Amino acid sequence: MDSGGRLLEDVGAAGGRPMSVRGLDITLLDQIMGYPTHTILRRDLQAVLLDHVARVGIPVEFGHRAVAIELDESGRGVALFENGERIRPDLLIGADGRMNSVARSFVAGDNRPIYQGFVNWIGVAQGKDALVNEIGIQDYWGPGHRFGCVAIRSDLVYWAAAQARPLPGKEAATNLHKEVMDLFAGWSGPVARLIDATPGHSIQRIAVHDLEPLKTRSRANVLLVGDAAHAPLPTSGQGACQALEDAWHLARCLEGNGGCLDEALLRFASVRRPKTAKLAEQGRVFARGLFTTDPEACRIRDERAKASDAVRDAHAMAEGWSQGLPMGACTDQSPVDGAGSLYRL
Ligand SMILES: Cc1cc2nc3c(=O)[nH]c(=O)nc-3n(C[C@H](O)[C@H](O)[C@H](O)COP(=O)(O)OP(=O)(O)OC[C@H]3O[C@@H](n4cnc5c(N)ncnc54)[C@H](O)[C@@H]3O)c2cc1C
Repeated sequence: MDSGGRLLEDVGAAGGRPMSVRGLDITLLDQIMGYPTHTILRRDLQAVLLDHVARVGIPVEFGHRAVAIELDESGRGVALFENGERIRPDLLIGADGRMNSVARSFVAGDNRPIYQGFVNWIGVAQGKDALVNEIGIQDYWGPGHRFGCVAIRSDLVYWAAAQARPLPGKEAATNLHKEVMDLFAGWSGPVARLIDATPGHSIQRIAVHDLEPLKTRSRANVLLVGDAAHAPLPTSGQGACQALEDAWHLARCLEGNGGCLDEALLRFASVRRPKTAKLAEQGRVFARGLFTTDPEACRIRDERAKASDAVRDAHAMAEGWSQGLPMGACTDQSPVDGAGSLYRL
């Protein structure tokens, strides 16, 4: 088995396999993509990735907060850290996230994430017994509100709640557990049960921002990847996926460039820009529909969702997500009979 196969196996062992639910035909999606869908907590994915990095002898140093990037006299980027250390690598990859990226400030001279009118609360529910009946991905909508949850096992479920609201002030929220419980207490399905089974200290509240597409991804030998470069809204469901795709494409651009870094970085930007810009736009469009508080707009949105065709949706998702990626070995694209067509509201 090659290293990619072993990585997939380890992700599979640390995560779950969601099944199809009404409105989301994962079996068909997997068939079209040629790869299985896995659900995994961020901390577990990071542990798997770190383990693979260690196995090939790549050192990782923690506790280094970058404070600036400067050009040296030869025009190469040097990263300066809070602890006084500095590095001057051949390629400096800026993967420092969406909100206050030192690398984006250096590359694009721009560091203004845009608030998109809603906040998220995120948490991981851990039950003594089953919290959900189905190991699946469920989405519940109300006017200006959303609750989405992903079961890894029936007793381990991660969730994101959302509400449309003006940009919160800087004051720290006092009791996030109560805040989110009060907002979603009367909701159907497992919503209240999941919030209840989540330790309050682990709930985070995020004022959700995204970025306008950047005109440039690199300056000198400094390259932006992941949220530092594109940061689509959570409603795209694609931020982390696109960060991982950046890594995959970067490796290929570097391998195939004959040693010229400038060319590799230009090629990387031209490959990545269209897909990430499109997903960012789709995330905004979906968010506008989801977080509307207008009753008539909500009614139309819900009717459309109920009438949606899960087979067509799976093909559309696969077409968008697979762009620029090799499809897997299993490429049977025939529709699956009996696919559901209703989102849970
Ligand atoms: C509610 C919610 C739901 C989401 N759902 C999905 C989903 O379903 N699917 C999906 O694909 N994506 C989803 N995302 C998006 C996903 O979380 C991000 O796109 C992803 O984490 C981006 O990865 P990244 O490594 O680029 O940035 P980050 O995960 O933000 O990592 C950046 C890292 O850089 C470090 N850092 C920052 N500044 C510095 C500095 N100055 N010096 C040193 N280190 C620094 C940070 O500590 C952090 O470790 C969701 C996001 C939210 C908020």
